[in-house]
Amino acid sequence: MRTLINPATGVELDISPTSASLDDTDAVIAKAHDAFPAWRDLAPGERARLLRAFAAVVDEHLEELAQLEVLNAGHTIGNARWEAGNVRDCLNYYSAAPERLFGRQIPVAGGTDLTFHEPLGVVSIIVPWNFPMPIAAWGFAPALAAGNTVVLKPAELTPLTAIRIGELALLAGLPPGVLNVIPGQGSVVGQRFVTHPLVRKVCFTGSTAVGKQIMAGCADQVKRVTLELGGKSANIIFADTDVAAAAASAPGGVFDNAGQDCCARSRILVQRSAYDEFVGRFETAVKDFRVLDPASEQSQMGPMVSAGQRDSVQAYVDAATVAFSGSAPDGPGWWLPPTVVESSDTSEAVWREEIFGPVVAVMAFDDEEEAVALANDSEYGLSGSIFTDDLGRGMRVARAVEAGNLSVNSHASVRYWTPFGGYKQSGLGRELGPDAPNAFTEEKNVFIAH
Ligand code: NAD
Repeated sequence: MRTLINPATGVELDISPTSASLDDTDAVIAKAHDAFPAWRDLAPGERARLLRAFAAVVDEHLEELAQLEVLNAGHTIGNARWEAGNVRDCLNYYSAAPERLFGRQIPVAGGTDLTFHEPLGVVSIIVPWNFPMPIAAWGFAPALAAGNTVVLKPAELTPLTAIRIGELALLAGLPPGVLNVIPGQGSVVGQRFVTHPLVRKVCFTGSTAVGKQIMAGCADQVKRVTLELGGKSANIIFADTDVAAAAASAPGGVFDNAGQDCCARSRILVQRSAYDEFVGRFETAVKDFRVLDPASEQSQMGPMVSAGQRDSVQAYVDAATVAFSGSAPDGPGWWLPPTVVESSDTSEAVWREEIFGPVVAVMAFDDEEEAVALANDSEYGLSGSIFTDDLGRGMRVARAVEAGNLSVNSHASVRYWTPFGGYKQSGLGRELGPDAPNAFTEEKNVFIAH
């Protein structure tokens, strides 16, 4: 059992889910394996209907789920409502997939050639603490739609919404064993997903360090693996843009979810001729950013998820020279203010490492070529933003930045209907978008001789 703490107050919650042991994990995997043939063989329209029913039940419990996330993870209530709605939307979107899991008919000599997308069996989803609801749904919605059964491990710090979503699946009529939530430790439950031969895929979101261990572990059984890992994304601001608008949107691009976001634009690159104007306006926007009790409707940023995360972020701040910062509540809870560092040395930790907190480094550049080189000077490649009024430049830079998700004049990175994933050490494979169910299938080719 793990004691859960409300990050906004430091007060213990009176709910502490039991951590699964190795034997518990094996028992649930066996249950998911038993449930697989019937789920796979269900008529596509019936599987679709059950996913829509699941979406409807999530929608009926949207406020309950959102309040639970405020309590457990310290997410602002506005974000938490969006996150619960995202679970519903993912289920609705992928409920269309069972009836559209198309194969192909490929012209060949002497017969007919057909392809089929067949489910893998039991697939596992390992979820981090920063977006417990959406990241779970990005895995389980397409996996279930493709006819797999699912074992899902939430993060140790934030299991409550996943556990509730598992209950809601049963309430909606999904057969027992189809979606199984197993709270527990990464080194026990998560590791067992990697080693258990009946688990056919590991869909992992989390740190690059753990992702590398999982990839190495999966090699032993040539197990399918998808990795969604860390990031150090750049927000590139050219002098030809509306600098006031770019500065106004920059805090949201990095401090949303208190910077605990793999897509956080934690490096800001500003063209030198606009640098002073940008930094002046950005300071005003940072100081206006409302860091408040996450239960408040006005709150734009809540606390860090844990004391450990707060201390880890604070250590980066202590090692850097802070240019300016915003505000944060005093008193109990794991609070930090939004913090800005002006940087000129790309070897500094604050410029290179994923801090996963409300800290951003700002640097000047001279021309497009230098901006692209600085953005790409990272082992990561998840997201990025480009602010410019020149559409040609926007496209050129978006194509040149080595990252999976670029936005021009926007910080939007993730939509459930567009693909999402990282270049380089930010990940392997893609989630979301129209092709996500295929990533939970094997493609089979059948030739029939005439
Ligand atoms: P983490 O890697 O510590 O943990 C992630 C999950 O893996 C947890 O459920 C944990 O229990 C489990 N785990 C830990 N050790 C394991 C092991 N040996 N075997 C199997 N499972 C194990 O990451 P975190 O601190 O929870 O999350 C923060 C990280 O997640 C950041 O690096 C962030 O960038 C990344 N992230 C990436 C994305 C993305 O889509 N690219 C999204 C969100 C978060």
